Amino acid sequence: MASDLFVGYRCSVCGKKYPPIDLMYTCPEDGGNLDVILDLEKNAKRPVDELIISKDHSLWRYLPLLPVDDPGGVATPLRAAGWTPLFKSQPLAESLGLNYFWIKDESRNPTASFKDRASAILVARAQQINAEVIVTASTGNAGAALAGMAAAVGQKAVIFAPRTAPPAKVAQLLIYGSKVILVDANYDAAVGLAIQSAHDFGWYCRNTGYNPFTVEGKKTAAFEIWEFLLTEQEAQLGPAAQLLHDKPLSIFVSVGDGNIISGIHKGFKDLHALGLINQMPRLFGIQSEKSAAIANAFKKGTEVIEPVSATTRADSISVNMPADGLRALRAATETGGAYITVPDEAILQEIKTLGKVGIFAEPAGSASLAGLRVALTEGRIAKDDPVLIINTGSGLKDVSAAMDASGDAPVIHPTLDAVKSVLPSLNI
Ligand SMILES: *Cc1c(COP(=O)(O)O)cnc(C)c1O
Ligand SMILES: [Zn+2]
Repeated sequence: MASDLFVGYRCSVCGKKYPPIDLMYTCPEDGGNLDVILDLEKNAKRPVDELIISKDHSLWRYLPLLPVDDPGGVATPLRAAGWTPLFKSQPLAESLGLNYFWIKDESRNPTASFKDRASAILVARAQQINAEVIVTASTGNAGAALAGMAAAVGQKAVIFAPRTAPPAKVAQLLIYGSKVILVDANYDAAVGLAIQSAHDFGWYCRNTGYNPFTVEGKKTAAFEIWEFLLTEQEAQLGPAAQLLHDKPLSIFVSVGDGNIISGIHKGFKDLHALGLINQMPRLFGIQSEKSAAIANAFKKGTEVIEPVSATTRADSISVNMPADGLRALRAATETGGAYITVPDEAILQEIKTLGKVGIFAEPAGSASLAGLRVALTEGRIAKDDPVLIINTGSGLKDVSAAMDASGDAPVIHPTLDAVKSVLPSLNI
């Protein structure tokens, strides 16, 4: 059983260890985020093909490296989370001046964002500990992911989201049949309410970062990236073969609470502990200038993260006080990466750039590309560095941002003359 791997918790602030009890969130001493401790020794001597269930085309292929039991069931959306495509997008690589460039498209998850990875693991965990109701705070995607994954197996879910969440995300929550409560305040207020409700009503709290298992779901993206590079290596598809041994991969991902980047870091740390990689990738966290709590600390060179007043258009990364800030900061500092801030205008602009290679991103998804462009300008990335950006969520999640980025289509009378008259403005 995969849950045998799970042997305890360790505080990321004070290092104190705790036994693997069912209900444990942050460190009782200092509120630090808890790492799930895995007994990877057990697996260190096993061949790779025993660590991966390769016929399973979802994140459940990594069950031998996950701290939960198989949630059972066949062909449900819960079993379809993860295993998202990696695109090469040659024209974009060329326009960026990069020789090795990939885009991992997380919009292809069952509820159309990266958050499905965490929610899938949390629903499995809830079933294992017999939790009747799962609750989460969400800017929209974490809630949609929980609602969708919970609906897939008939688990009850309660979602607190800011009233200002994009309508498409709220619609998703409602359609998946979870109990939705919109808070007339920001995401941070929803976070507090979810924690209090979990405590008072005996619900299981999925809050990002607060629940130690969210990282364990998100780490599966790192496993997929590693497996992809390994496949390139085996197929000897050129210089990508040397990537894990030669130049480190640089990964760009947007950051709000900091749980995705912490999860990716954890995934590569697990692979390192298993002796499967020699070198960690460099992790670059991208924040909007208007929601830059972790980037501010990075720039000051301190581990003290001060809250901001977030106002970015990229709602998925709009966070005053990140729930997983310290680990997210260390994901960059410990891997030779960096934090980079980008203006909202650049984020909207890159929605268009990604669209032109067939990828429809929400603002938080295109922020990674905006960050990469800054890193190139600042000389942090050279043209032979292998680079991967992550589109964390679908553009359908926030259609109004997409429309602002794209501009309007002309409306004409139904005549060929009218078509002729608009052709110049379309630059065909
Ligand atoms: C949640 C989310 C992020 C940021 O993840 P954090 O763990 O909060 O840093 C980025 N993009 C999308 C689309 C998200 O839903
Ligand atoms: Zn502690």
